[in-house]
Order: sequence, then C-alpha cells, then structure tokens
Amino acid sequence: MIETLRGDIRGSRFGHAYLIFGDTAAAEAEAYEFAAALHCETPVDGMACGSCRRCRQRQAGQFAELVTLEPEKKTYLKKQISEMLKYTALTGGETRVFWLKKADALGEICSDSLLKTLEEPAANTVFLLTAENDDRVAETILSRCRVIRLPRNGGTAADEEDVLRALRLGRTGSYAAILKLAETFAAGKSREDIAAFFETAAAILGGSYAFRRGAKEPKTLLPPAEWSEDALFEGWRFAVNAPVLLDHAIQHRLILENFLLTLKRS
Ligand SMILES: [Zn+2]
Repeated sequence: MIETLRGDIRGSRFGHAYLIFGDTAAAEAEAYEFAAALHCETPVDGMACGSCRRCRQRQAGQFAELVTLEPEKKTYLKKQISEMLKYTALTGGETRVFWLKKADALGEICSDSLLKTLEEPAANTVFLLTAENDDRVAETILSRCRVIRLPRNGGTAADEEDVLRALRLGRTGSYAAILKLAETFAAGKSREDIAAFFETAAAILGGSYAFRRGAKEPKTLLPPAEWSEDALFEGWRFAVNAPVLLDHAIQHRLILENFLLTLKRS
C-alpha cells in the first residue's frame, strides 16, 4: 500500500473522499487494501493486521462495510448513484466505505449528483474512487477528493535522495538557490514525475512530523535540529495537496518554488 494512505491509517486522520489514479489493477488493489485497513480493529503500520475479528470476517468473505459500485453500462446510470446515496444517508456505527470503480465513467450527471455528498458525507463514511484516466474525471470531483497518483507501469518513482536534497535546500538554502533549483528541477519533467516527487516528499515530511508527535521513527527522518514541527506539517500539507495544483495546470516551476519557500518560511 502506498505511503500516503498508510500514513492516514497510522495517524487516524483520513479524509472522507479519495480518488486513486493508476493502472486499473494497481489502483483497485490500493483501494481494497485501504478499505481493509480502515475496517481493521488493530492496523499494523498502516495496514490491515490480518488477524483481528474483523480481518478474519473479511477474509471469510464478510465485508458488509464495503459497498462496491461499477458502471452498469458504458457509464454509470443516474439511478445507481441515487440508490447508493440513499444508502449512504443511513448512519451506522462502523466506518463504511463506498468504492466507485471506474470513476472516469461517472459522466456529468452522476458527477453532479455526487458532489454534495462528497463534500458533506454522513459520519463514518469514506468514499473511494478509482480511475485510470485523469482527464475524464470532472474537476468538481477532483477538487473534493484527496487525489493519489500511483506510479504508472514503467513510470518513474521519485528518487529519495533527490527529494531529500531538495527538501534540505528548501529548508536551509538561500532564496536564489531555491529559485534556481525549482527551475532546473521542473525542466523537462512530466506531470507524473512532479506528482511522484510530491508523493515521496509527503511521505518523508509526514513520517517525520508523526515521529515528533509520538509515532514510531520513520525509515527516513529529517534532522530535528533543522526542521521545526511547523515546517514539517506545512510542508506535508503542501505536498499532499500538490496534485490539485497539477490538475489546474499551474506551471510546475511555480508549484515547486512555492513548496520550497513554504519549507523555508515555516
Ligand atoms: Zn485487523
């Protein structure tokens, strides 16, 4: 499971709507594991433990708290969504997960009817959306979800050393050095590369922040002497939200610049 999602389980600070982009099999595996971890009574390091009462029920095929939807035709039908929404309005005790597969087949009408619920879902409700094509998901849906982009097949995972170097320079470098790095780093990088950079940055910053708040030491710890809690938190928050900026076609250089300056100023 990807670090961002595991971090949310570890910190019990999950959002109420997630949109996972990636190759279908990978995105759906992430969504299922995340739902399982949300449902688990005693997650271990952000993943379902596999041995508690609920995990055993799930393994035996009883996972009523996960409701999965797929488009009935080429796209979702309005009645599928309205039936699901009726069901989401029933508030229950346990966390329920509504998983919409192929969210790129929602179409305009179904997207619109989902918006209000995505914004203010009933208590203990989490929406997971998975999709392959970024450009077919309505912007209004994107803006209401935490967007996770998985590395594509043959895609590039960010090199952790590069990310660490950039974080350090953002925190301690001069303004001139930051502007220069943002420029050279953005040059010739695809949107996927930049998204992968922020994914790794979020994992490092989030792990170090959680450690300062009492969680166990992460694999990569930013030196406390250099990093204030504020800088870790603000940096993490920027990094997890960066995909939204990418979706709005803001120049990569400007996003990176703002990110590095946030690290410096916090
Ligand atoms: Zn469990």
